[in-house]
Amino acid sequence: MKLELRSLQAAYGKIQVLWDVTLTVEAGQFVALIGANGAGKTTTLRAVSGLIPLKGGQMLLEGQDISRMPSAQRVQQGLGHVPEGRQLFPGMTVQENLELGAQVRTAAWQVKDQTLRRVYDLFPRLEERKSQLSGTLSGGEQQMVAIARAMMALPKVLLVDEPSLGLSPLLTKVVFSALKEINRQGVGVLLVEQNVRQSLQLADQAYVLENGQVVRSGSGQALLDDPEVQQAYLAF
Ligand code: ATP
Repeated sequence: MKLELRSLQAAYGKIQVLWDVTLTVEAGQFVALIGANGAGKTTTLRAVSGLIPLKGGQMLLEGQDISRMPSAQRVQQGLGHVPEGRQLFPGMTVQENLELGAQVRTAAWQVKDQTLRRVYDLFPRLEERKSQLSGTLSGGEQQMVAIARAMMALPKVLLVDEPSLGLSPLLTKVVFSALKEINRQGVGVLLVEQNVRQSLQLADQAYVLENGQVVRSGSGQALLDDPEVQQAYLAF
């Protein structure tokens, strides 16, 4: 399922943050959105999910204009979001969090047991901890729950915000390879990451956001080889 963002503009009150965000996630593509702190990456994902209104531009999901669609309806159309900070229900168990993920989409609820099986195959660690309260998990495990919960709604396109934040290099690897596997199973991924090198290595296509505008794009490899990208984002 193709997601197309055309010249998105968005603001917090009077402060405009997105000026011209144009990018495409082709069906089944893995796309990385990189940029400095404050460039507007999180805001872009929030706008696509409908958590903040658009000031201008247009968003199409499989050709359908979703720009003014309520957030819950976008989920029904196949858009998934793994928010920054995970936002789990800490007093609920892992499995309860996952089941909530299926509840948000009618089509997903009917097949939740099969999806739960697939999600536990993807993250065996979560099956081991399915009865544990999610607030007591490690940061990496919580990130797995957040991704798994979004998967329970059977998204066609998954928006993922900074999944490696606060994780050890080892757990970052686990989370990234799970995302790659999810993508291999046919889910389009739009990944926002501070971990530029690793996300470009994973990405089929990547976009660079500066001050709310997409200023560069290319294959993940092309951007890894781009001297300006290297200097701005890989020189550490
Ligand atoms: P980071 O990696 O730091 O999250 P980002 O590229 O995701 O960076 P955004 O979080 O989208 O950037 O923020 C873009 C700009 O919008 C920043 O200048 C930020 O201060 C501002 N901003 C973000 N959230 C709000 C908010 N709720 N109210 C007002 N301004 C905000």
